[in-house]
Amino acid sequence: MRLPMKDGKIDAERAIRQIRHAVDQGVNYADSAWPYHAGESETLLGKALKDGYREKVKVATKLPTWMIDRREDMDRFLAAQMKKLGVDHIDYYLVHSLSGPAWDRIKGLGVADFLDRAKADGRIGNAGFSYHGFGVDFQPVVDGYPWEFCQIQYNFLDQKNQAGTAGLKYAASRNLGVIVMEPLRGGNLGRAVQPPAIQAIWNEAKTRRTPAEWALRWVWNHPEVTVVLSGMNDEAQVEENLRIAGNARPGDLTADELSLMERVNRKYQELMKVPCTGCGYCLPCPSDVAIPFCFEEYNKLHMFGEIEPVKIHYAIRMSGILADGKARYASQCIECGECLEKCPQHIQIPEFLAKIAEEFEGPELERRLALAQRLFREKA
Ligand code: SF4
Ligand code: SF4
Repeated sequence: MRLPMKDGKIDAERAIRQIRHAVDQGVNYADSAWPYHAGESETLLGKALKDGYREKVKVATKLPTWMIDRREDMDRFLAAQMKKLGVDHIDYYLVHSLSGPAWDRIKGLGVADFLDRAKADGRIGNAGFSYHGFGVDFQPVVDGYPWEFCQIQYNFLDQKNQAGTAGLKYAASRNLGVIVMEPLRGGNLGRAVQPPAIQAIWNEAKTRRTPAEWALRWVWNHPEVTVVLSGMNDEAQVEENLRIAGNARPGDLTADELSLMERVNRKYQELMKVPCTGCGYCLPCPSDVAIPFCFEEYNKLHMFGEIEPVKIHYAIRMSGILADGKARYASQCIECGECLEKCPQHIQIPEFLAKIAEEFEGPELERRLALAQRLFREKA
């Protein structure tokens, strides 16, 4: 997903060199998906895995759930992906970007039958799903099919967001392998330059580590985690991640280190504009507003200052183009007040939603949506 770029395209020579170097050093899992790099990621990975590299890694890619209209589409996409990757077997195949509604829709289109058959005839080895929905909808997805594994967003800031720690533990208790994505929250937790109040806490640590190392070690500290997708894109990151992965073990962090990280977490939460924990108690909203997701994007925008990528992400998420097509924008709030008494943080939800609508929507929303459609809906 984060391959090196040159002149607006994947820098193929450099990306292949990086992937092969990482594999030579022991990396044995390569994750791709249909929409990454506007459809070019799987093709690039296929090239990198030639010359004997295919046998050294587990290949993972994903069914683009939002582009599936009928049962036959699933086989068609899988065949196209095997062709792009140049393989006759995908070791780890995921139903991409599930949420509660996206799961209901794809289940209704027959995904269980598709996965059963693809496993039985050897096109895929293990069936899993990646998840970006509310915490409350995670368990029904885990229980909805005999999955071998799942992929969740997990890092020391997202302990209660999306699947969160409860989801990690539940999936592991059901014997699923757990692949962790976004261990650095889109790279933000690993930035060399941190907000001053955060850096001041890191400076107190007895062992000097980069923010990326702290964040990655925190994820690897959990025995339930099977694989961490660390999303490297330059050589220095590859080297740093290889070094950390080479000696990080579950349970390695000391009680003092964990409590220092908890202080960093709390400081980040304080810096957030809205003190939303992502618990989801305010849901469902009668107007379908995805309240916690709106707040997550708003906080991200104000905490890390990456304005346009966050606004595009908001457009993708709230338009529902990756789920069931149902819109969930902040501007849909009709100020009924139903959510107010349900929020344990006593957040003035409609007031914040009005600010979010103003900041994230308006005339630019259409342009961002058109861009997202181009990125995600390239047909097989
Ligand atoms: S106040 Fe707005 S966000 Fe809250 S439940 Fe009503 S419509 Fe939904
Ligand atoms: S707005 Fe309140 S109830 Fe809703 S997810 Fe956030 S903290 Fe929980």
